[in-house]
Amino acid sequence: DNANLYTVLRGGFPSDLDAVAIETPERTYRWADIDEISGRMAALLRSFGAPAGARVAVQVEKSPEALMLYLATLRAGLVYLPLNTAYREAEVAYFLGDAEPAVVVCGDGAKNWCEPLARSRGALQVLTLNADGGGSLVEAAATMDPVFETAHSAPGDLAAILYTSGTTGRSKGAMLTHANLAANALTLRDFWGWRADDVLLHMLPIFHVHGLFVASHGALLAGARMIWLPKLDVDQALHYLPRCTLMMGVPTYYVRLLADPRFTRGTCTNMRLFISGSAPLLVDTFREFQDRAGMTILERYGMSETGMITSNPWDPARGERIPGTVGPALPGETVRVVDDADRPVAAGEPGHVQVRGPNVFAGYWRMPEKTREEFTADGWFRTGDIGMLGGSGIPDDYLSIVGRSKDLIISGGYNVYPKEIEMVIDVMPGVQESAVIGVPHADFGEAVVAVVVPRAGASVDPAAIQAGLKSGLANFKVPKKIHVIDALPRNAMGKVQKNVLRQQYADLK
Ligand code: ATP
Ligand code: MG
Repeated sequence: DNANLYTVLRGGFPSDLDAVAIETPERTYRWADIDEISGRMAALLRSFGAPAGARVAVQVEKSPEALMLYLATLRAGLVYLPLNTAYREAEVAYFLGDAEPAVVVCGDGAKNWCEPLARSRGALQVLTLNADGGGSLVEAAATMDPVFETAHSAPGDLAAILYTSGTTGRSKGAMLTHANLAANALTLRDFWGWRADDVLLHMLPIFHVHGLFVASHGALLAGARMIWLPKLDVDQALHYLPRCTLMMGVPTYYVRLLADPRFTRGTCTNMRLFISGSAPLLVDTFREFQDRAGMTILERYGMSETGMITSNPWDPARGERIPGTVGPALPGETVRVVDDADRPVAAGEPGHVQVRGPNVFAGYWRMPEKTREEFTADGWFRTGDIGMLGGSGIPDDYLSIVGRSKDLIISGGYNVYPKEIEMVIDVMPGVQESAVIGVPHADFGEAVVAVVVPRAGASVDPAAIQAGLKSGLANFKVPKKIHVIDALPRNAMGKVQKNVLRQQYADLK
């Protein structure tokens, strides 16, 4: 049996290989095209003579060919390493030095600096792939045989190294095996009820777990069509949504759809499922979406190291989708919430989220120390997130993410969970959203500071917010300082960059 992930995904392709698999505004690709183009690219990669397990580092704009390059890498028995397109030369230099890829693929526009950099880090081949699918990769692949026998992979062979988003510090390379990725993809296919007649609106970047694995694997494995757009463009989304059944997005996508009055129930008549993840979905957004679109967003939780961990149910027989929660552990996985000594805490109590399951990665690339630290002696992975099981009327198996342990504030010896304060601020009049951070304080160690974004057209009064918080929260939780700003700093996945805020507002004066 071949555990190669491509073989697993290929098993989900429809019997009619002439059906459309991927549609872009410009053209369509059949299932047979996926097989043939990835086959030619795999043959090309193979021809370079890189040994099994060699890395193929890719920093390119999103295109169907980029997805095929990913599949080709799997098929050739090499390890796919996607890089955020926002990274500039110095950042790419770090990743190439760390990963030492045998093959590097970049856009023609980056070739000037990327090629010498890649060569100096030992790359054998540098190829280009552009947003329009052109470039030397596709040209060279065109001369290869489209029929390619997918390499034989063992379940534990590496399929990809996915660098984490770097939200809390330097990105770490998460080593994912063919079996890790297949397990998560198969679980999600069943849990979310993927069907061959689904049409997925794919607008996420494909250098990240959400767009590359969760969204693409789901559609490939279901034999379902993808509408493939380079990014969220509200006009385009409104154009395609009426033909789609499924959409995945980061919370900002939902906020942006709601900000457009043309987005209505009528846009969603064909839709069966909206999925949100990568960052917390505000309860407000969840409710507004229900009111406007008549659809209940399904929020799930996961990370580069593990793929998806928990999910609100798709099937009503399994339970409700509860806003502010990320649902129960997915089938085949176990989640626990523990104290600093790794002992489970009671329901409704916050603690460290840990997970076990076939989806959990093989360790951090070239960081054996870090890998050891992040696993307990009995094999639980420390996610670095703080969460809570159950609590206030919520079933005991539902997880809520309270924040990241690195964002936990310790003020005067007390633990302050930013989320608790953010939730109170977020429902105050005129407030769009907020971020609560800890900044250095001579007496308390850290002091609580809030950064508040007003709703469009509204204005908020820091003194009124502070007064409002004082009446409902213990004094040590009340922010010493409240800043009002237009928008929170976010990365490509819509994650609030609290490290940026901590630097910017470090000064309490
Ligand atoms: P780094 O590990 O480098 O600091 P990162 O953790 O942001 O970066 P990713 O692996 O892309 O890198 O993101 C995983 C994290 O995203 C989770 O640990 C969690 O904090 C957050 N996350 C994902 N889904 C959700 C969700 N539904 N609600 C809240 N947080 C979420
Ligand atoms: Mg992380």
